[in-house]
Amino acid sequence: MKNEYLICGKKLVTVSQLGSINDGAMVVKDGKIADIGSWGKLREKYAGIKVVDYSDYVITPGLVDCHTHLLEFAPTSLHPITKETHFLAAKSILLHALSSGITALGEQICGHPLCDFSIDDYRETTTDIPLDISFAATSISIGFEKLSHYTSVTKSTGVDQKDLSNFFLVKQMAQHSDYPGENIFINATPANFKVNDVPRAGEIIYTKKELEKIVEIYHQSGKQIGAHVAGEDAIQMTLDAGIDVLHHAHKITEEQMDIVKEQKVKIVATPMGGTHLEPNSPENILRLHQKNIPVSIATDSYLPPYPDISWLPFNDQELKGPDALMIVSQPPMQLLKEHGYDENDILALLTANPADILGKGHQFGRLTKGMDANFLITGGVPGLDITDIGGIKTVYFKGKKVIDRTKG
Ligand SMILES: [Zn+2]
Repeated sequence: MKNEYLICGKKLVTVSQLGSINDGAMVVKDGKIADIGSWGKLREKYAGIKVVDYSDYVITPGLVDCHTHLLEFAPTSLHPITKETHFLAAKSILLHALSSGITALGEQICGHPLCDFSIDDYRETTTDIPLDISFAATSISIGFEKLSHYTSVTKSTGVDQKDLSNFFLVKQMAQHSDYPGENIFINATPANFKVNDVPRAGEIIYTKKELEKIVEIYHQSGKQIGAHVAGEDAIQMTLDAGIDVLHHAHKITEEQMDIVKEQKVKIVATPMGGTHLEPNSPENILRLHQKNIPVSIATDSYLPPYPDISWLPFNDQELKGPDALMIVSQPPMQLLKEHGYDENDILALLTANPADILGKGHQFGRLTKGMDANFLITGGVPGLDITDIGGIKTVYFKGKKVIDRTKG
């Protein structure tokens, strides 16, 4: 069979009930995982099938970064481009994400003063790329001296604060959102600007009434809603309003974690930064995990790392991208390991949990029968054993090898 092969590894970290399988193997057929188990058994069962031998390496699910700004904010921040070359830059950024072991993204389209593209423009340019991209249509409030607000519907034209809860605009964003990304910014954001340029970052933008109205519009449209939020007061408003996913949740309290658990809210931690407050510490992520709250780690890239954070290994303010996912995940992942958690549980923070946030947990994020064959050939468990993208030897997307560092 042309589209069928048996691939074996020293260890398969499945992030599923199967746990880690030493001397494991998978059958890949037509882009899906058709079978998985021990090499000895599968070799007998599938005698004669083409074998791809990675028995010196570990095989894991592809990484999922469920909170990024790679298509709208990053191109103009990283490259001296015009609207003619915007998508060329975007595609090179996506290639870099893929080469970092990321096979699925949750992208925010917020509206941006320099980009007049619609969310459909972003979707269209990325359809042929071997990366699974889910989009969140959002509004954004940036903490400049004079607060500025944009929406993905009104694109590069700024709007007033009161427009952020306009029924017509919110309804359109709910309809265009694939998943609960940071659909609204409860606090004004520093975005990817330097601290001094955004003195009003952190200000709470919404009243309780406005928030409740927005949540209702999403839920009536059959959509979940996520929010950019940080700080105890803002987090409390967000929980009271019934928001489904908290992005960042920097400085969430112990009591609020219990409410999160009770309301079955999910959390996307961004240890690199992303709000006006100190980002999620390794201890914060451990506490969430200990309380059985599904937590994902995302980069929110491109971002300058939050200054003077002891657990981040950066000593500059350069914008960091999706290649930093393993780097910022290592301190919390190692802390979880020290607390006795299994490597499958731990790797879930970069694979299965964010796949669930995207609503695609049945499609990828774990190595089990029927899933898309999105997987990595690596020198160790990404984030836990390796942080250098050079340790990601090969990336497969839907059964096809799309990145290969094993040559030459
Ligand atoms: Zn963000």
